[in-house]
Amino acid sequence: MFEKSAQFKPFEKKVWLSSPTMHGEELQWMSDAFHKNWMSTVGENINEVERLVAEKIGCKYAVALATGTASLHLAVKLAGVKRGDKVFCSDMTFSATLNPVVYEGGIPVFIDTERETWNMDPVALEKAFELYPEVKHIVIANLYGTPGKMDEIRKIADKHGAVIVEDAAESFGATYKGKQTGTFGDVGIISFNGNKIVTGSAGGMLLTDCLEEANKARKWSTQSRENAPWYQHEELGYNYRMSNVIAGVIRGQLPHLEEHIAQKKAIYHRYQEGFRGFPVSMNPYDEENSEPNFWLSCLLIDENAMCRQVRGEREALYLPEHGKSCPTEILETLARFNAEGRPIWKPMHIQPIFRMNPFVTREGDGRGRTNAYIAGEGADVGMDIFARGLCLPSDNKMTPEEQDRVIEIVRACFD
Ligand SMILES: *Cc1c(COP(=O)(O)O)cnc(C)c1O
Repeated sequence: MFEKSAQFKPFEKKVWLSSPTMHGEELQWMSDAFHKNWMSTVGENINEVERLVAEKIGCKYAVALATGTASLHLAVKLAGVKRGDKVFCSDMTFSATLNPVVYEGGIPVFIDTERETWNMDPVALEKAFELYPEVKHIVIANLYGTPGKMDEIRKIADKHGAVIVEDAAESFGATYKGKQTGTFGDVGIISFNGNKIVTGSAGGMLLTDCLEEANKARKWSTQSRENAPWYQHEELGYNYRMSNVIAGVIRGQLPHLEEHIAQKKAIYHRYQEGFRGFPVSMNPYDEENSEPNFWLSCLLIDENAMCRQVRGEREALYLPEHGKSCPTEILETLARFNAEGRPIWKPMHIQPIFRMNPFVTREGDGRGRTNAYIAGEGADVGMDIFARGLCLPSDNKMTPEEQDRVIEIVRACFD
């Protein structure tokens, strides 16, 4: 096997995909909780981050919860998903987007991806309503910090009387037509997981304009205690409330959201410049209507520049070829030089756990039509992006010099 990138030296300090970026105020608010002994799931930090997030997002209520996934779980419950209900879900996303549908006994029906923003395809969604007119719920994610086609999705949802749950876990701070993501669903969520644009090390929030819903989420998240002198329960409860210590970290991070977005945006544009003239493109967005938070920068290799790559359920193989490359080669090469990339989220419809769930493309029923491991012509859109795409190191602490080396390493894969 010939060596395309033999001239490079590994990074001494690992270049991460996206790691926490602390500033100091986080420790101050954590210490504040410690010194005042508010070391539980009540306290000033929680109240303050709920206020700040609701203000930033432009929604009436933000409920601080343990994780983004817990927030999605309560959002799905608020939306009214019941056992046996089919729910239209984003297909190319992190499994946490739709696992809560399954927690509630719902059946995800996966909707294929569009090429303009890599989110749920409104055309496929409309098709899905033809096939399953009884469906009343949609769960949509804004992938990698890029808003989806919210106007089209909303129009279709309204036409069919369906409720939208918006998973803005990756897109906190991104806007569509001037409005923050997280406000386009009937209920929304964000995440403060360790690799998100701002983090609490963990944490999430449920977003709503409805006081009754916010109160329900608060109650469910604290074991559904009724207002009684003893532990009185009329509904199933959860231990989903955010810790006041975690909220301290988030309180310290929130003032830095815009700064992180600016850094991530600069990284995206530096990659875009760096790959000019190469047979690749960056993860696309609607430049006219949306402003992503640029959480992760991704690369899509042109069809005719793909070397042969085969992916099984657990491993991948490729044949190196001059002038061509593939995600496997690029990711393995980056790893060899101590830089962290990641494959695109593997679409849900090709995950073994969801092999029996329906999948809808623009053409209709997408099951049984495509070979699960091909790229380009004949593949559904999600499968094609998974086959040809990858996430590049997007850590906001990466220096321009480090990023230039990453670009050089990736470009050498096409030697
Ligand atoms: C991170 C993430 C979640 C889950 O958030 P956690 O806080 O890790 O539970 C949900 N959906 C998407 C798209 C995510 O990226």
